[in-house]
Amino acid sequence: MRKLFLLLALASCPLFAAETPLASLPYTPGLDVSAMDKSADPCVDFYRYACGGWIKNNPIPPDESRWSVYGKLARENQRFLWGILEGLAKNGAGRSAAQQKIGDYFAACMDEAAVEKSGGRPLKPHLDRIFRMKSMRDLPAVLARLHIETASGAFFGIDSNQDYADATRVIAFAAAGGLGLPDRDFYTKDDDKSKELRTRYAAHVARMFGLLGDPPGAARREAAKVIEIETVLAKASLTRTQRRDPHQLFHKTDAKGLKALTPGFDWDVYLKTAGVAGLNTFNVTEPEFFKELDKQWQSLGLADIKTYLRWHAAHAGAPFLSSTFVNEDFDFFGRTLWGTPELKPRWKRCVALVDAQLGEALGEEFVNRAFGAELKRKTLHMTKQIEQAMHDELVDLDWMSAATKEKALEKLRAMVNKIGYPDKWRDYGSVEVRRDDFFGNVARANLFESRRNLAKIGKPVDRGEWRMTPPTVNAYYNPQTNDINFAAGVLQPPLYDPKMDDAPNYGNTGGTIGHELTHGFDDEGRHFDARGNLRDWWTEKDAKEFNDRAQCIVDQYARYTIVDDVRINSKLTEGEDIADLGGLVLAWLAWKAETAGARPESRDGFTPEQRFFVGYAQWACERHRPEDLRARALTDAHSPGKYRVNGLVVNMPEFERAFSCKAGAPMVRENRCRVW
Ligand SMILES: [Zn+2]
Repeated sequence: MRKLFLLLALASCPLFAAETPLASLPYTPGLDVSAMDKSADPCVDFYRYACGGWIKNNPIPPDESRWSVYGKLARENQRFLWGILEGLAKNGAGRSAAQQKIGDYFAACMDEAAVEKSGGRPLKPHLDRIFRMKSMRDLPAVLARLHIETASGAFFGIDSNQDYADATRVIAFAAAGGLGLPDRDFYTKDDDKSKELRTRYAAHVARMFGLLGDPPGAARREAAKVIEIETVLAKASLTRTQRRDPHQLFHKTDAKGLKALTPGFDWDVYLKTAGVAGLNTFNVTEPEFFKELDKQWQSLGLADIKTYLRWHAAHAGAPFLSSTFVNEDFDFFGRTLWGTPELKPRWKRCVALVDAQLGEALGEEFVNRAFGAELKRKTLHMTKQIEQAMHDELVDLDWMSAATKEKALEKLRAMVNKIGYPDKWRDYGSVEVRRDDFFGNVARANLFESRRNLAKIGKPVDRGEWRMTPPTVNAYYNPQTNDINFAAGVLQPPLYDPKMDDAPNYGNTGGTIGHELTHGFDDEGRHFDARGNLRDWWTEKDAKEFNDRAQCIVDQYARYTIVDDVRINSKLTEGEDIADLGGLVLAWLAWKAETAGARPESRDGFTPEQRFFVGYAQWACERHRPEDLRARALTDAHSPGKYRVNGLVVNMPEFERAFSCKAGAPMVRENRCRVW
């Protein structure tokens, strides 16, 4: 009976039919009338009007915590990559060296039987090194191996980054870390939901110790100790909102200064083991954190340090071990924390891993099949139109002095547009990939990435580098290199639709281009100059004028509720909210300039202006599980999609006119915010 019910349930739910590899990317139009809810009043709830149909027709798949237009496109890209990787996984002649690597990596990852057979054994070398520690003097070498081979963030993180004060060179960054939960606030909030989550986290950590072979009583005590240590580290860490201020993260020091912060830790041994001996310039992003860390190292017993390290070794390795580890890891971090009912199928985890570890080799395959020169030309043209709109806006801006304007225009002129993919592909030649050693492949790729990052220290900044792989459905602005980066994956339908006219494309992709550009001039990006130096180029009065306008947006978004009684932390989302509004304003101006003289036609009963706004809104259609919304409220600098649409249009008189909204309607705001 139960079985029959299950069959019926599956049969009536074709939306979640088993997925298969895709030979080509499917087409979804850039403005989808069926995704709208025309029964809604655009002047009352524009998000529902533009996205109501999409929300109704797109339930969240069981292996996702949320579902969105971006997420759906990302999954289609993954299925397309799956097909590519399946082909390359076949042993045989004709594969290039890079193709062989990603093919064999994928094959090893998909060999579930071999992974099951090795159980938790691949963790043993790390656990043995921890077990053999005789005193605190052994910590630096053990920790360095853990960091560079497993990408673990135990205790702290070491990385390379551009010197905030000198945009021409790369220095070492020592950063706060050491937590298992995704943000320090998970440890410090004392509402009932947060407490319950910590109890369940403790149970998960205890079960992981159980999987390492510890008896239940000991495992529970060890878990309590881990959480005690992590809580101290969390409290010593800056909040996500504080970390948005680059000045708070810039504390340059020499080796002597670093050692003085943590006298109990031998940095020479640590750095030598990490492969970067002899460094003498560091940015310690959070000195107070390192002082607290040193106190912990001095006061904790060796047994407790070992307990903490064993947890972090298991935590970092769990997703790559046998199913008992994978399922336990997913049970807390997927099911409990984000509310996702089901683990992703293996193919999806393996495609994501190839993308994460050998991403540019896979990206080259993606670009060769899905991103032509014509698409690059068109989207670059749109980018230049948006930049011209920003230029004109700056020139006409009434609240900024001529002196600051000059610097802002200089920054705009210096901005570099990176579209689709890097000019030079990363060479993974030194990563050894074996068809029979999945865990080893992950470790060697981690090591490659750590070494690649640390090798940049002391060298000039590579301004051609990308921090996103080409198939990624996303874009970013980097204030330190003053460039906007559009991955090929985000320039596909329904986001950028070459078959569509300009109205929805400028609303959608144009809005995103404007968004990234505006990041150069948001509350964070504005602190960097044209070359990417952290340098104040604003007059005091102009900075105040900016802050007053930004505060209007902070106050506006602070009133929006995310879930239950949780509101948007609008100091955290400030930069994104400013970029959303600035981006759409620029897209509108660029679209008007592009179509000046032409007479765009109405389609499907909508005017070109209405189609611009619906095209914009339809990038943001999404659904969330409640757990996802709670976790996101603490970790995501973006507001939920509903407010990324409704929160913008209320500030735009162009919207009011496009839909003939009446004064006093919910989508018409009396005191509008506007920064750019
Ligand atoms: Zn952004």
